[in-house]
Amino acid sequence: MNKILYCPWCDRYAREPWYHCPFCHSQTIYIKAWEKKSEENKKEWLEKFPKIDPPRPTKDKSLLREAEKFDKQARAELAQEEARKQYIPRCPTCGCPDVERVGFGEKIVDTAVWGFLARKPKCQFRCKNCGYEW
Ligand SMILES: [Zn+2]
Ligand SMILES: [Zn+2]
Repeated sequence: MNKILYCPWCDRYAREPWYHCPFCHSQTIYIKAWEKKSEENKKEWLEKFPKIDPPRPTKDKSLLREAEKFDKQARAELAQEEARKQYIPRCPTCGCPDVERVGFGEKIVDTAVWGFLARKPKCQFRCKNCGYEW
């Protein structure tokens, strides 16, 4: 994920070594570095590396296809990563987020006794507030 490059001008993702956007030939920047910037720093960066206008997409058709593919893939992966970060389990009964993961110790014994069927653990979370498990 750290190696993903980004073109702020066309809002596209690129990979190394596409330090110039395949879609417009503007300068790209590592996505992590871009996200760390404040709005002001972003503006500065955009002034320093202005948009190539009119855009000069690569003439290499296969590279362009690959870039399209990479952009889609990176977008999906980044969205997934974001969703994972934002997922906070909440207690379904009282709705509080003060929830802990239940240990799997007893369930492993359970599986050992009952054989090969890897049973899905009954509960994964326990609410510290009301004690509800689900
Ligand atoms: Zn671009
Ligand atoms: Zn609860």
